[in-house]
Parts: sequence; C-alpha cells; structure tokens
Amino acid sequence: MGVVDEVKERIDVVEFISSYVPLKKAGRTYKGLCPFHAEKTPSFVVFPHTQTWHCFGACGTGGDVFSFLMQREGLSFSEALEQLARRAGVALTPPTAESEATNKRREKLLEMHATAARYFHHLLCQSAEGAVAKAYLAERSIDSQTVERFQLGYALDAWDGLKSHLLDRGYSEAEQLEGGLLVSKEESGRSYDRFRHRLIVPIRDRQGRVIAFGARVLKADDVPKYLNSPQTPLFDKGRTLFGLDMAKQAIREADQAVIVEGYMDVLSAHQQGHSNVVAGMGTALTEEQLRQVKRLTKHFVLALDADTAGSEAALRGISTARQALDRSVEPVPTSQGLVLTEGRPDVDIRIATLPAGCDPDDILRETPEEWPGIVDQALPVVSFHMQAVAAQHDLETARGKSELVRAVSPLLREISDPVERAYYVDQLARLVKVDERVLLADLERPPAAPRRPAPGGAAGPVITQEERDAFGPEEYLLASILRDPGALVAAGEELTRLDCPGVSAADFRDTLNRQLFLMVSKPEGAVAQADPVLQSHLDFLRERGERPPVLSPHLLPAELVSRVLRLRDQILHEKLTDPRLVQREADETGDRQESVRYQSLVDSTRRRLGIVQQAIHKRSTTGRRREQEEREGLVRV
Ligand SMILES: [Zn+2]
Repeated sequence: MGVVDEVKERIDVVEFISSYVPLKKAGRTYKGLCPFHAEKTPSFVVFPHTQTWHCFGACGTGGDVFSFLMQREGLSFSEALEQLARRAGVALTPPTAESEATNKRREKLLEMHATAARYFHHLLCQSAEGAVAKAYLAERSIDSQTVERFQLGYALDAWDGLKSHLLDRGYSEAEQLEGGLLVSKEESGRSYDRFRHRLIVPIRDRQGRVIAFGARVLKADDVPKYLNSPQTPLFDKGRTLFGLDMAKQAIREADQAVIVEGYMDVLSAHQQGHSNVVAGMGTALTEEQLRQVKRLTKHFVLALDADTAGSEAALRGISTARQALDRSVEPVPTSQGLVLTEGRPDVDIRIATLPAGCDPDDILRETPEEWPGIVDQALPVVSFHMQAVAAQHDLETARGKSELVRAVSPLLREISDPVERAYYVDQLARLVKVDERVLLADLERPPAAPRRPAPGGAAGPVITQEERDAFGPEEYLLASILRDPGALVAAGEELTRLDCPGVSAADFRDTLNRQLFLMVSKPEGAVAQADPVLQSHLDFLRERGERPPVLSPHLLPAELVSRVLRLRDQILHEKLTDPRLVQREADETGDRQESVRYQSLVDSTRRRLGIVQQAIHKRSTTGRRREQEEREGLVRV
C-alpha cells in the first residue's frame, strides 16, 4: 500500500473535516455549511462510506481528505501529504542520516532566525538606541499594534551586536554566516553583522516562521535603501511573498489577492484593515510566488507604483504572471498543443495603477478611503497591456499602429470567450483607428505551426492487455500521456468532435494520479522538482509505459479517447449515487425542497452521462472500423 492510501485508511474524513466544519449527521451522510463558498443552507456533504466530500451548492467542489486540506489551507499536494502523514503517523520516506542532518541544520537555522527576530524586536521596543527607528515608524504612521504583529525590530549601529548575542546563545559563527546574518570579509577572514543601524522587518514563510530579514536604512545617505538577507537554505526570494502568512485568511475571504511592491506597503495595508495584501521581494514576480497565491484565490490585483507600471520590467513581470497562471490551469488540448485557459475565465489578473508619484503606502497613509476604489478600478491585464504599449508608440503613424497591433494580437488570440475578445478588438480598433474587421481578419490567421511529436521516430511501446488490467485505466492514461504528449492533443481534438471536453484533472479519481496529471501538464522544470512520493509514482508509470511490445502511434489517440470516455462513464455513474443518497435522506425527513434540489442534480448528471454514452456509441460505429484497420496495419508491421 502506498503512503497516500495508508494515510487515507488511517484518517477518517468525517472526523477530519469536523475539525474545520461543524457537521450534522443526516442519515448515512453528514452535512454542513460549505467552507469554500458563502451559504445559509448546508449543501456540503461528507460521505463516510466512500470517505469523500462534495459541495452540492455554488462551488460544486469535492474530493477526498487531501483535496479538502489543500483547498482549505491553500497547500500544495506535498505539503498536505506531509501534514496528513504526520497526523496519521505514516513515515513518508525512511529518514537517511543525510536527510536527518539536513533537517536538523534547517531547524537550527529557523531557531536562530526566531532568536534574532526577538533580539531586534526587543532593541526596537526597549532600548534607548531603538528610538531612532521608533521615530521613523511614527513618521510613517506605523502604530504599535503593527509593530507587534509584524515583530518589527532595530539593528544596532555596531559590528557585532547580533553576532555576540547569537554566539552567547549557542549559534556558531558558521551558522550565522550560513543564515546570511553575518558578512565575511575576504581579506581579514573576519565576519560582522550584515544589518547595522537599520529598521528590521522579519520575513516569514507561509507557516509564519522567520526565514530572513528585510532592512531599511535610517540614515538618509546609507545605501542600499533596502537590504534583504541573501539566498540561504531557508530563504529564496523568488519563492517568498512578504506577508503571505498573515494575508492567507483574508485573501481567501475576500477571494482576491493584492500584490504590492514593498513591505512598507504591506504594513500600511494591513494596518488599515486591508489584510489581503502581500509583496514581492523587490524582483519581478515569479511563477512560484503566484502559484502560492493561486491556491487561495483566482483573483489577482497587482498594485504597482505609477513609474513601475509603465516600465518594461513591469510588463515582463505581468507576462510572467500570465504564463504562470495559464500553465497551472487545467490543460485543454487543441491543435496548437496544450492550450490552457480555454473555457475557463476563472483566472483574473488585473493591474491597478496608482496616481503618478504615489506608491500604495502613500495612498494608505494619506487617503486610505481611496484604496478600495483603486483596487476596484484595476484594469484587466489585456486592457492594461494595450494601454501601456500604446503609450510607447506614436499612434498617429502607420508604423506605431502596426507595432501596437503586433504587440497586442498574441494576447487577444488567447482569449477564447468570443464576447470578451470582441470587446478588446473593439478597444484596439478605437486606439489605432482601424476598422475592426481588418483586425479580426488579422487575428483569424493561425499564429504558428501546430506543435506535434517529432515524426519518424520509433513507435512508442505499448502496454499489453494483461498489464492494463493490473495497471488500471487511469494509470494507463497517464503513462500514455507521459510517453507521447502529442497523443493527448490528438485525443483532445477527437473529444471536441464528440462534443466532450478534453482530458483534464477531473478525469482522475485517484489523488496521486490527479496530482501527477496536473504536474506533467506543466513544463519540464516542474516535473524535475517533484515531491518524492509523486516522483516515485512517476517513475513507476514511466517504466511501465516504456515496455514493449509496440503500438502504432496512430492508434494511441483513439485508445486514449476510449479510455477517457469509459472513465467518465464510470465516474458519472458513481456521481449519480451521491445526490441520490442525499435525496433519499431528504425524502425520509420530508424535506420537499431539498429533495427537489437534489433531483435536479441527478438530472444534470444524467444529461452529462447521456453525452458521454452517445460519444461511446458514435465511436463504436464509425471509430471502431478505423481502429480495426489500424490494428491490422500493426499486424502487417
Ligand atoms: Zn461550496
């Protein structure tokens, strides 16, 4: 049994969810108010017999204990697995001497950072030297509550203030160097405090543990103005968002995350009660940063300083944002390869521009009442991009116009919703004063050659019937996708012809398979950093997928479609059971309204099942003949 199954066996889903949501027994099920959307009548149902949960209300989500924890706490699969395994007392990997040593070192670095944060904080609040930092905070209108909440501090104007404090508490010079708290001078080999006479802002990870420090100058002529801890075993600025530990809950509640540029902006925002605000680490936003927030909400507002917003760097950052978000959305196969946001307008990035010369901190300090309006008026990324590019070109000239069109077209092509697209085409037409139809014709032209697997290579190996049985249809699907991503694209095209959506994570019921599908539909880099549990599942599937004998690559897409349809048929049949069960309980208690509601759910599931069964039927008459021919072709080989 794998660790995932072991965890599931040991943790009861009803008991687990009860610690987050008050549940009431309703016959054989348990009901409560959905924690993922606001509701007054409970439509969140937990099924003890299948150890699953489902919201039959607005959000329509569901899953097992893993998906519940991931969604509730905004965790990645690895993080959820770690927490649940600990709770269930399941060992994830037998600890090696090396991994234990690494963990111990990490723990010690964390403790050292916590000690340093307390030291800096004490100096700010209690020492005479800290007065200068206090005065600075007063000038920035940061109140004492914020000072406490963020544990702000002060670093002495000395070479070994922190160093000797930490040495006294058993942290060696080497450890302090490793944590980036000391700087070592090459010539003399001596080390001294990195942060001197600065305001100290502890930087925490998502769990709220101090992993680094940010430090701001207090003397006008000191440089740099902001100094962060360097890259250390604890701190990677590309993977950290300042304030996320405190903003998590508010982001989920507001269903919106506001990303600003500096930590002073975050302090002011939280102080003003806008707690859904986080900051990057002074570099362009990275995919990893956005991915962390995307677990909490699909609605992003980037509140950029006016001068940043118009700059090249900001546009690059936004384009990173787009790509990152697009990639983490479930893939929809098309002839262009895996295209990602199709039919899913649920990811929304907007850019708020602040008045010239202002940063968020200025607004929040001087006219906080304007903040909500600024966030509300944020422009969708396409409009923003259009305006930003427009500002860089002379739209009175033909060249300027064509450059703007060329810069904006790729974005417009990505919009799959025709109404939304028409809206932006209209905007663009106005900007360049060109007839809309001309623009539309330009957009209709296919942008690039479709991505296909390299032709002429040896045909991929196939899995025998026998192996398939042991392997399971989900695993078979995944292994095939791993071996030949092009087949997934072709399968998606056929599914579209059958009026069915392409292969998505929803086609996998197994937790590991679902996670793996999400992972492998991302670029290579993501696969490389897989969680060890996922990695070993991946290796297993790859290994099984590489075994001979060989199947014609032409046959693979058709086989994938059959598999997907059969899986869906099965899943939907099972899906009928759950609302029926809840409905029966409602009938028994005489709750007519509830009964009607669940009947309509049963009906809509039946309709979806009808479409799938029709597709299976269509393929059995027209598709099967072709498949047969292919099979015969294989025999000839
Ligand atoms: Zn819900």
